[in-house]
Amino acid sequence: MRKGLWAAPLLVLGALGVVGCDHRVDGSTKDGVSHDMLVGADDDPANWISHGRTYDEQRFSPLGSVNADNVGDLGLAWFADMDTARGQEATPLVLDGKLYITTAWSKVKAFDAATGAPLWDYDPKVPGETAVKVCCDVVNRGLAAFGNSLFLGTLDGRLVSLDRDTGEVEWEVVTVDQTKAYSITGAPRVVDGKVIIGNGGAEFGVRGYIAAYDAKDGSELWRFYTVPDGNENGESPEYLQQAAETWNTEVLRGSDSIGGGGTVWDSMAYDPDLNLLYFGVGNGSPWNRAYRSPGEDGTGEGDNLYLSSIVAINPDTGEYVWHYQTTPGETWDYTATQHIILADIEIEGKARQVLMQAPKNGFFYVIDRVTGEFISAEEYIPQNWAEGFDKNGRPIFNPVTRIDKTGQPALVMPGPLGGHNWHPMAYHPDENLVYIPAFEAAVLYAPEKDWKPDMGRGFNVGFDMGAGDLPPDLGFRRSVYETVKGKLMAWDPVAQKARWVVEHAGPWNGGLLATGGKLVFQGNSSSEFAAYHAGTGEKLWNFAAQTGIVAPPITYTVDDEQYVAVLAGWGGAYAIVSDGHLVNDQGPVRNISRLLVFKLGAAAELPKMPELVNLPLDPPPSRASAEVIALGKQKYARYCSVCHGPGAVGSTVLPDLRRSGALGNKGVWQAVVQDGILTDNGMASFSGSLTPEESDAIREYVIHRANEDRALETGDAE
Ligand code: CA
Repeated sequence: MRKGLWAAPLLVLGALGVVGCDHRVDGSTKDGVSHDMLVGADDDPANWISHGRTYDEQRFSPLGSVNADNVGDLGLAWFADMDTARGQEATPLVLDGKLYITTAWSKVKAFDAATGAPLWDYDPKVPGETAVKVCCDVVNRGLAAFGNSLFLGTLDGRLVSLDRDTGEVEWEVVTVDQTKAYSITGAPRVVDGKVIIGNGGAEFGVRGYIAAYDAKDGSELWRFYTVPDGNENGESPEYLQQAAETWNTEVLRGSDSIGGGGTVWDSMAYDPDLNLLYFGVGNGSPWNRAYRSPGEDGTGEGDNLYLSSIVAINPDTGEYVWHYQTTPGETWDYTATQHIILADIEIEGKARQVLMQAPKNGFFYVIDRVTGEFISAEEYIPQNWAEGFDKNGRPIFNPVTRIDKTGQPALVMPGPLGGHNWHPMAYHPDENLVYIPAFEAAVLYAPEKDWKPDMGRGFNVGFDMGAGDLPPDLGFRRSVYETVKGKLMAWDPVAQKARWVVEHAGPWNGGLLATGGKLVFQGNSSSEFAAYHAGTGEKLWNFAAQTGIVAPPITYTVDDEQYVAVLAGWGGAYAIVSDGHLVNDQGPVRNISRLLVFKLGAAAELPKMPELVNLPLDPPPSRASAEVIALGKQKYARYCSVCHGPGAVGSTVLPDLRRSGALGNKGVWQAVVQDGILTDNGMASFSGSLTPEESDAIREYVIHRANEDRALETGDAE
């Protein structure tokens, strides 16, 4: 915890032996990272030893050698090219002059933090087919350090302990049922020798949980499920018995269970004085609540605990302590897995120990982290699903935005990507500001007639994934893309309003770092890395990064020289479903995956940017019947669109099927989609979900779409 309002009481408690930690302040982790060092991480600004730097996850570094007065002299000290060209979302760790990152496909790399000399690499060899089990790119967000080990969660659900000096595997355990669509993209945390990790997969029909493993040997110590399995009885943990009353438990039971979702795929924070571990819980599986809840068919009442909740547990035992549900009965993919920040702030004259979150649902929450009591919430971006809150902090719903199994679609803000996604925020204790990488996009939610779950492949959300496809009209598409916005917001959590806002050229910008040099650092979708004045938002410095940046920066020192590091590489949920040419008007957003490291006075240069090859569309003629194309459109929307883009318009990150060489060759297409010949590249067989006729209808639909879009390129469109 940073020393602010609470410094005096903590010192008193420390003197009484209640806190009692012998915090290391000499910056050396050479003999291993201890629990006390993690608790005292704030006193060690040379290193960055935990995901959010400190257990309160403030992502604030007191370092100020690089500051608002001299940041103009910041230059590239060194860079390292990555061997993956997918989204790069990791927060590096720095321990004693060595920098460790994870990359796409859960690889790990170690560097000399001052020179960039590579030290070692580790590749867990995640099977390529795992790519079809993930909603939002094959990303990884980072490592945890404890003792002389580093801990990694892999995309296919393993937890791996690596020797920090050599990268050798010390142990690995499988943390999920690999026959289901579980994945790990988040960074573990270590609390008192327990490695804690959750998982993802709530778009695919899994049951979420978070679990602790012994740092020594990987043995599982406890597991906390976030949703019931429908078999709860008097012997079950009380919190799950209570949850079961808020679900249609019939659909949760047995081998054809819908899973329920509630995955814990990213945020955690820890308060060592309260000994509480906080984590955020994800969306329902399927999204559409009408398929999960008791009540009349198609109405689906029920809060579906603990979806979209912030939960506090005892990390020694995994026992439930409290929860706050941000979106009762969520139905819009409104996860509460977004970054959680702990801080001690003064509200109405009283010092409060708070937890803060800007979950997807568009409200900024301030919660009492001792009790879970709701203190306040205000919308940080426009939203239309809630009309306010009752006195207990329960939202009052706008009924128009609830879509059941049938009925009219509704345009809802925010959409499934949220008002803020996984991109970390930062808190500046001197400014008392939370910086939010905010996102604005409304989405059309429409029921899918006769929807049935499919636990094999594809999105299992209970909505029509093709409802929002854009027509083949470039002007219309541009105008829709212009409504999707990205902002850097400086949010005052006491006044519950923005103090300043930077409007970005495009959405889906990077995570944040705040520093004692009065700076906020952020990469963005305009392919630059920039520094802003923490108090005013004035842009003070920027660097042309050649690629969109989504990952959060860190800062550290080696021999008293301050460095700022960020992993660059466009990707993740929005990047893979959007047309990289229309994200903003700054030119196409590319993926050129690189680690970039800066210091004052440095002047290294990036190699010349490779040319973007963008051949004209050249599809075979479209000859299929309207029925076949319609079937292909429906199947494409459900099984293909989440990776290859809505309406078959590909991103700059994943293959654009309109340009596929297999379009004109039915046999090759079937070999890919039915037989899985590209499994190692990440394109697994869909034969369990699609018949050969349906696969071919998808091919005909893509041919049809490619011809429509070729007419746009050549000006032949009406
Ligand atoms: Ca989700």
